[in-house]
Amino acid sequence: MGDPVNQAHFLFPAPAPVCYLEKNMTRRVTLIRGDGIGPEICDAVVDVLAASGFKIDWDEQLAGQGALQTVGSSLPDKTLRSIRKNRVALKGPCTTQVGKGFPSVNVRLRKQLKLYANVRPIESLGQLKSHYKDIDMVIIRENTESLYSGIEHEVAPGVVESIKVITRKASERIARYAFEYAKQNKRKKVTAIHKANIMKLSDGLFLDCARKISRRYPKIEFDDKLVDNACMQLVTRPQQFDILLLENLYGDIVSDLAAGLVGGLGVTPGSNIGQKEAVFEAVHGSAPDIAGQGVANPTAMILSSALMLDHMKQPRIAAQIRQAVQKALSNRRNWTPDLGGKGTTKRFTKAVIKEL
Ligand code: NAD
Repeated sequence: MGDPVNQAHFLFPAPAPVCYLEKNMTRRVTLIRGDGIGPEICDAVVDVLAASGFKIDWDEQLAGQGALQTVGSSLPDKTLRSIRKNRVALKGPCTTQVGKGFPSVNVRLRKQLKLYANVRPIESLGQLKSHYKDIDMVIIRENTESLYSGIEHEVAPGVVESIKVITRKASERIARYAFEYAKQNKRKKVTAIHKANIMKLSDGLFLDCARKISRRYPKIEFDDKLVDNACMQLVTRPQQFDILLLENLYGDIVSDLAAGLVGGLGVTPGSNIGQKEAVFEAVHGSAPDIAGQGVANPTAMILSSALMLDHMKQPRIAAQIRQAVQKALSNRRNWTPDLGGKGTTKRFTKAVIKEL
């Protein structure tokens, strides 16, 4: 029979956002500054939100490499308890060492809180230099399994295995989330991205679930593409895409590719949505190459906070922040080096605040 709560979760679509706020009510939100450029861009968001007039009581918590050094854990229980209590968190990027060290904080956070849907809007920002105009798509990535299940072992010296886990439950859940998202946001098409010609069982199951769920949403167009072809078409004709539905690894890779179409990692926001909690963070990582120099682009993090405000039923303030970011970007003197400018994090933040 199984757990009835989990079965209900499995059978019904993703819920509406969990927060309902009275006017002038202060909302407690967990803030994780993270590593590398994380503290710099989180400071920017805190200043922008303060200027927006929306009152947030930040519950500051630790995670990442810095947390490991200061409190001996890269993801302390106290941090998880805070997110569970507040239900909403804004998170800076956390460093994960390559090929060694502790397991990714991001993957653990997403799994422990069952943040099953990673949602990343990819939109042309008219002011930026880009080969592409009129891109408006949303990446919806399954966030809890696939090759990120963390099951790796050495079978014999020089032979390792990494297990790709795909379940019907998680695949139907994310497909349902994608179609519900399309319905609620008046989007027209969902494209499932896979490699089911080669991984016939695992990607085959993911595709099968997407097809099955699509039949319940006859008004929303559905198609599918092999991931290699999808990457090529994203570069040649990205405007054809509306919602992209992907398993975990492809979603991770395609997100960065798509970010590159609209101005780069510095401008691409994201959210991790679960049944109860939601964690908002930029697509990019901790950017150790520019950390501490004051030149990180805070746009992605500021736009992630706008997604958070939407989730908290504050669409008016979210829209004001998006508009202020657009206006700040319209002046090249505010551009940070990743956009081809000479501006700083502080200068850009001041410009957004002035526009607010
Ligand atoms: P990255 O996203 O940190 O950086 C890639 C490139 O983009 C770098 O040249 C960097 O300078 C630039 N960049 C990224 N964000 C920028 C910003 N806001 N402004 C200006 N330039 C920006 O990716 P990486 O170098 O592959 O990873 C660095 C670390 O981040 C790794 O430890 C990785 O595990 C971690 N990471 C964390 C997250 C997360 O916490 N959600 C996501 C991805 C990577």
